[in-house]
Amino acid sequence: MGELQHYPADTPNVPFAQRPIIILGAGIIGCAAARQLLQNGFPVILVAEYLPGDQDFRYASAWAGAAWHPAGGISPEWRYLQAISHRQLLKMAQEEPESGVSIVDALEYVERPPAENSSAWGRTLAAKWRDLQPGEYPSEFSCGWSYETLVTDPTLHMPYLAKKITALGGQFIRKRVESLEDLYGMFPESSIFINASGIGSQTLKDVQDDLCFPERGQNVFYKTKNCRTMYFRNGQEYTYVIPRPMSHGVILGGVKQADNLSSEPDMEIARDEIARAHRLAPEIVPEHPPEDTLSYIVGIRPSRKGGFRLDSEQQGNRYILSAYGFGGGGYAFSYGVADALCKMVEKAERENVI
Ligand SMILES: Cc1cc2nc3c(=O)[nH]c(=O)nc-3n(C[C@H](O)[C@H](O)[C@H](O)COP(=O)(O)OP(=O)(O)OC[C@H]3O[C@@H](n4cnc5c(N)ncnc54)[C@H](O)[C@@H]3O)c2cc1C
Repeated sequence: MGELQHYPADTPNVPFAQRPIIILGAGIIGCAAARQLLQNGFPVILVAEYLPGDQDFRYASAWAGAAWHPAGGISPEWRYLQAISHRQLLKMAQEEPESGVSIVDALEYVERPPAENSSAWGRTLAAKWRDLQPGEYPSEFSCGWSYETLVTDPTLHMPYLAKKITALGGQFIRKRVESLEDLYGMFPESSIFINASGIGSQTLKDVQDDLCFPERGQNVFYKTKNCRTMYFRNGQEYTYVIPRPMSHGVILGGVKQADNLSSEPDMEIARDEIARAHRLAPEIVPEHPPEDTLSYIVGIRPSRKGGFRLDSEQQGNRYILSAYGFGGGGYAFSYGVADALCKMVEKAERENVI
């Protein structure tokens, strides 16, 4: 007989390998992280008020454009997150059409000569990048570039992810919680919790991140067969035409309205977006598209002053990983964030065991 082992009084009854990683939030961030963790062998439970397939306007992931666009003004670390997302989305576009991810052409026009930290860094990873020559872009712009990019159709991608997660053994629990503390009570055996609650982090009692704010977006979906080219205009007039080939149309936008929580489409904004899209891409968007080809999208971007939060904190035996505040870029960062979270979970677990 070996010597009796003495464990601390709070040693969980569930063996290490079966203690689930708990994710609060089932938007693109929570679901992308769940998929990656499950693929790496971790048990995962997602708790969320809204789940894939839901259409509440506060559930941002249902309403995104959702284009992969290289964000300007970001750090090298954040660029790397976008690079990983790009790689994963490209793989899905090539190997899993049911994921709703497509490869499309992109044209970007820039109003002023690009600053040092502009979105032109995208040339390091996008295929077929080419600087446009004068004459290839409208004369009111200073320059432009074309490249191949990835668009994700959220109406297909979120249900696809839910199916993947379930097939890998992940579990969804529909529940609204008022605090992370509520979750600790629900899962006393778990020590790793991921807060991917988007705008929820503004109000969760033990988070109450004052930097978070809702940023209303409104888009027009225009049904057309001409849906293989993205147009992007950055500067004073923030306008995009994002193709959604699998739904046979394009998304016209955009608008950002801080702290506006109206779920009703504003028709003045819609008319302005159509007019701007027509100016940007007249060969795709006519001046007056027939009303029966149009529908309207309203969603709240989970924005955060100073940018998103992605970190890990230890509180006693517990690790709380935060991944929220992705504003208008949650899809472009998604799989890179999932990869980073996975590495943080592995580190936390290792520290717990050793
Ligand atoms: C009009 C529009 C266009 C966009 N276009 C693009 C684009 O082209 N490219 C791009 O990359 N991004 C785009 N985005 C942004 C993108 O949609 C978001 O960044 C992304 O969806 C955020 O994902 P998330 O998982 O953090 O949040 P969400 O999708 O909002 O998910 C949050 C989850 O947390 C849950 N939750 C929150 N609080 C609680 C609580 N108290 N209890 C239980 N559950 C809770 C919710 O129920 C939900 O499941 C766009 C957004 C909008 C609105």
